[in-house]
Amino acid sequence: MSSVAVVRVERDAELALIIVDSPPVNTIDGTVRAGLSSAVREVAADATVRGMLLLCEGRTFFSGADMAEFSGPPREEEYRRLFNAIEAAPIPVVAAMHGTVLGGGLEIALACHYRVAAPATRLGMPEVTLGIIPGAGGTQRLPRLMGAEHALNLMLSAKPVDAAEAQKLGFVDSIISGDLRSGALGYLRELLVAGGSVRKTCDMSIPAATATIDVFERAARQARKLYPNRRAGLVAIEAVRAATQMPFAAGLEYETRRVNECKQSTESKAAVHAFFAERATRHIPDLPDGVQGRPVALAGVIGAGTMGGGIAICFANAGIAVTLLDADAAALERGLANIERTYQSMVDRGRLDAAGKAQRLTRIRPSLDYRDLAAADVVIEAAFEDMALKQAIFRQLDTAAKPGAVLATNTSTLDIEQIAAATGRPGDVIGMHFFSPANVMPLLEVVRTTKTSATAIRTVMHVAKALRKTPVLAKVCYGFIGNRMMEGYAREAGRMVLEGATPRAVDSALEGWGMAMGILGVFDMAGIDVGVNVHTANAHRYPPDPTYYQADFALHEAGRLGQKNGKGYYRYEPGNRTRIDDPEALSILRARARKLQVPEREHSEQEILERCLYPLLNEGLRILEEGVALRASDIDVVWTAGYGFPRYRGGPMFYADTIGLPTLLAGMEKYRESFGPMHWQPAPLLVQLVEQGRTLAQWESQSGPGR
Ligand code: NAD
Repeated sequence: MSSVAVVRVERDAELALIIVDSPPVNTIDGTVRAGLSSAVREVAADATVRGMLLLCEGRTFFSGADMAEFSGPPREEEYRRLFNAIEAAPIPVVAAMHGTVLGGGLEIALACHYRVAAPATRLGMPEVTLGIIPGAGGTQRLPRLMGAEHALNLMLSAKPVDAAEAQKLGFVDSIISGDLRSGALGYLRELLVAGGSVRKTCDMSIPAATATIDVFERAARQARKLYPNRRAGLVAIEAVRAATQMPFAAGLEYETRRVNECKQSTESKAAVHAFFAERATRHIPDLPDGVQGRPVALAGVIGAGTMGGGIAICFANAGIAVTLLDADAAALERGLANIERTYQSMVDRGRLDAAGKAQRLTRIRPSLDYRDLAAADVVIEAAFEDMALKQAIFRQLDTAAKPGAVLATNTSTLDIEQIAAATGRPGDVIGMHFFSPANVMPLLEVVRTTKTSATAIRTVMHVAKALRKTPVLAKVCYGFIGNRMMEGYAREAGRMVLEGATPRAVDSALEGWGMAMGILGVFDMAGIDVGVNVHTANAHRYPPDPTYYQADFALHEAGRLGQKNGKGYYRYEPGNRTRIDDPEALSILRARARKLQVPEREHSEQEILERCLYPLLNEGLRILEEGVALRASDIDVVWTAGYGFPRYRGGPMFYADTIGLPTLLAGMEKYRESFGPMHWQPAPLLVQLVEQGRTLAQWESQSGPGR
């Protein structure tokens, strides 16, 4: 698209409007910058123009910079020239904002002389969450407009504020209700009548009271707390400090140098990787191009328990009517009551109004009769985890569902090929593996069997979008992508507590490294009994290791079920999820370790991390080699979206390349020496890539299964 098409200049008597229309969200890419530059030049040179208005069409004012440019050559110089040209215009320039104005989108507005916004506008600077700092003048202009303290807050919290808050803070001058264009033109005219003139942000000074040593120290504490293991927050603080100490132009140079330094950091590369990885999951290279998904207007969910209720909420939230069916009237009642409670808590927290709640509830239609599923376009089964039961359900579905309906199962551990074989239409059967709580967790593993049709896959990928889920395609195997990789990670955590590490030591090491929650705390939350049931049902799959998941079994046998009864790896006060160290748990674990003759061992933090993470990464390489996942970045999405893996480390496969495959291989070999080959056999792909001196990223771009 040419720059002429995305940026145009219109006149309204003595005023000029620079209007940008670059769908979908007016990202400031190279084309937009070029168009803006020439438009600003044209308007500034026109002696008949008395004021300039900058506004965008479509859903939002500039949403931000172009992430695709992050990995290319630095663009700050180009941004700076453009923004300086806007600021240097000889006539007042007003930015008229609406929508979600983030990062570079807000920075361009800061370079204008005045800012107005529609009431629902949200404005923020989320750069530090991407491992960078605002690099187009944001760290220099924002403190000049609102003082250093508030500017630091906005950058470090990374949370957008609404227009009213922005006005209070001082970087929005007026809120325009009604039509933004005419309201903003009116604002500009009044300004001119009142003698308002050019007001350059760069000429403002930062009030000293907002930039005390105290303020900067507090900000540094906040940055360390919010962003452990990361640097960008601290760099942002240094850039704001520079704004208080240097002339504007020098401050901009400093900011440029620091943002480019940030872009080279692993934390930034990882965050950018995670961003694009999430967008790549819907691309499925082996599906024929022309295959479309079927529209989904009506859904069915079987089983009104924990998962079924959450899944029904997802559909209702997406505006899709859903029949919620249970075999048991009392269970159905309970399920509906849980759904009502979930919505009520959203109302209580101000996330939904009473009318919204009522509307969503009407979309959920309870039923005890499979015939009510006859019109559903997709049915998701979320009944008990039992093969015979699920096969019986799918046989009934085969009779009840209309031809072409997608028949999905939410199973975590059962073989979907066998479930599909219970129907006369295996091409329509697929796994839709939601994570608990299903209405909250963004991940959806989509599991194809050898018979699943391309149409069924596409339909589910589309419906995932409507449900606001991030779908990742996997092939059938035990545990799919996420739980299969979890196996070794959790196994080692449990084994280390048998060797004498405390649950606290294991969890703290993992959390200090960045996992959202240590795995033993996760077990307590999910229920030790839930894990034990899975281990028992699948014992035949496990290697002949007598210590295998024995920490779980020992606690379970002692009646410790986790948070639900106040004791598991930790103990809990009633109504409180705080993990308290519990000597009783330790003595149960010690006793089991003695019985199994597990040798005691000292565990450094490094060892805890290596022993949990290396098997996880190693299994990821097996999954890739087997083609269970389409691409390494899909594995990264599974773990960042579903398992609390830190986004700033990019995901497990990105992390494998970060530490280097030779390090991973050496680690696997080191523990194979200590513990034997049963659990520590390096993946063939790992050995091969190390021999070839290649990274995972190189392998994937050259020969990976996703190509
Ligand atoms: P749950 O026990 O909370 O709910 C199961 C519901 O299914 C019950 O209400 C039960 O009455 C109903 N049901 C049983 N047989 C039925 C039948 N023939 N027809 C209709 N309804 C029937 O179970 P859950 O935790 O929601 O798990 C459901 C499924 O989701 C299981 O396959 C489980 O493995 C899987 N899963 C669970 C989680 C989780 O964290 N709980 C996560 C992912 C997947």
